[in-house]
Amino acid sequence: MPAAARRPRDLPATSDSLVIAGLTPLSSCDWPGKLVATVFAQGCPWSCTYCHNPDLIPTRAEGAVPFKRVRDLLAKRHGLLDGVVFSGGEPTRQRALGAAMREVRDAGFGVGLHTGGAYPARLREVIGLVDWVGLDIKAPRADYGKITGVGPSGSKAFESLDIVLAAGVDVQVRTTVDPTVLTEDDVARIRAELAERGVTDLVLQTVRAEGTRPEYAAALAEARRSSGRT
Ligand code: SF4
Repeated sequence: MPAAARRPRDLPATSDSLVIAGLTPLSSCDWPGKLVATVFAQGCPWSCTYCHNPDLIPTRAEGAVPFKRVRDLLAKRHGLLDGVVFSGGEPTRQRALGAAMREVRDAGFGVGLHTGGAYPARLREVIGLVDWVGLDIKAPRADYGKITGVGPSGSKAFESLDIVLAAGVDVQVRTTVDPTVLTEDDVARIRAELAERGVTDLVLQTVRAEGTRPEYAAALAEARRSSGRT
């Protein structure tokens, strides 16, 4: 096919085609025990109740940070940073993720990944480049849509968990406990579904109102008022 007739999806994905919404040059909390730079990939197919970065959801938005800024940062931070965490948004949405991870590895840094597991096929492609995964399991499998707004999302998330476990990559499985949706029984069901896969460590995270949509912040405040928590 002549180059002029090629569609963007046909073009090879390079690090420079990763659409990046933000870059944190130094973080000590995005990969436990590591000092990292964190890259926030633009775009997510889900719309979680408690998303505290809804600006990162649109998939057609322009990037705000060229990958060159990541490259230049790493060139100056040898010996100071352990790695780069790809976060989002949903980083596995983008075809360029593998190229970007490979470049980070080739530069001598570790690679971390924050994912909700929305794209198991892409995760399978890149998992060999990843040293650590922070994987969100958001709800019992059958109830996923109540959090993500997307019906079949639970099957994708659990398929992604299976990919990470099969690869033997270091993983932290975490659940943000949204009291507007999840009950204690739901959290127990999540634990049981994870235990079936041999995962016994689950990190529970308290939902934060900061950055969430106003209607969610109001619903959260109400849920906390009715349960006696502030
Ligand atoms: S998966 Fe993450 S980025 Fe996507 S909507 Fe949910 S909380 Fe927001």
